[in-house]
Amino acid sequence: MVKKVTENVYLIEHEEAANNVIIIGKKGVVLIDTSLFPEKAKSIAKFVRDFTMKNISLVFNTHYHPDHTLGNVAFDVPILAHELTRKKMEQFDASYFESLGIEYTEPKLPNVLFQDQFEYEDGLKILFIYGPGHTPDSSYVYIPSESVLITGDTVVNDIHPEIVPDSNLNVWLKTLDNMPQAKYVIPGHGDYGSYDSVKKMRDYIDKVRRLINGELNPYELETDPNFVERKHAEMLEWGIKNLTIE
Ligand SMILES: [Zn+2]
Repeated sequence: MVKKVTENVYLIEHEEAANNVIIIGKKGVVLIDTSLFPEKAKSIAKFVRDFTMKNISLVFNTHYHPDHTLGNVAFDVPILAHELTRKKMEQFDASYFESLGIEYTEPKLPNVLFQDQFEYEDGLKILFIYGPGHTPDSSYVYIPSESVLITGDTVVNDIHPEIVPDSNLNVWLKTLDNMPQAKYVIPGHGDYGSYDSVKKMRDYIDKVRRLINGELNPYELETDPNFVERKHAEMLEWGIKNLTIE
C-alpha cells in the first residue's frame, strides 16, 4: 500500500515487512531501502516511473539487514550507505542467510559511503545521518523542509523491535535522543506516526535495558501498553536472548 506522508514523501508499506520510502526530488527520486526481494524492488522502480514520471536517482540502505538491502541488485544507480554497512554486507555468507531462513544470493554493495553525515540536494535537502544502536552501521534520514524522519529499524511501530546480537541498547538510546523532533516519523517496519513513535521506542529500549540489568520486574511489562499492543511478542524474548547469552 502506498501512503502519502507529505507532498514529496511516500511510504510503500508491505504489512510487517521492511518499509520502502520514496522522496521525490526535482530531477529524480530517492529510494530508502530496497526490500528482501529484487522482484519487489523492480516493481517499486516501475511504480516510481509511472507515478512520478521520474527515475530513481539514488538508493539508500539504512543498515545491512537483508530485508533492507537485497533488492539493491535491481538498481543501476549510486547506492549510498554508511561505510560499515558495506563492510557488514561484504561478510554475508551462506551460514548467515541460513540462520535467517533465506537462500544465499550475492548482494550488490553500496558504492557511495559516508561516516557521520551525508548531504544530498535535489530541489530539497536530504540528510543521511549515522545513528548506530539497532546495528553498529544503522543510519537514518532527515528531510528538514518536510519535517520527515525516516528511521530504519532504530524505530519500529506496531510490532516489537528486532534486538539482534550486534544491537547495543545504550548506543541505541543515545541515537534516539539525538534524532531531530520531526513531525512525521517513518519507521523501519509498521505505519508512520508522529515524533511520539521515537519517544515510545526510547521507553521500550530503556525498559529492556533495565530488565536485562535486573532493574525492572518482567511482570511490569505484561500490563505496559507499549509492549502489549505490539505484535510478535516472541521477538522480545528472542531479543533478550540475543544480548544475554554468550
Ligand atoms: Zn534491521
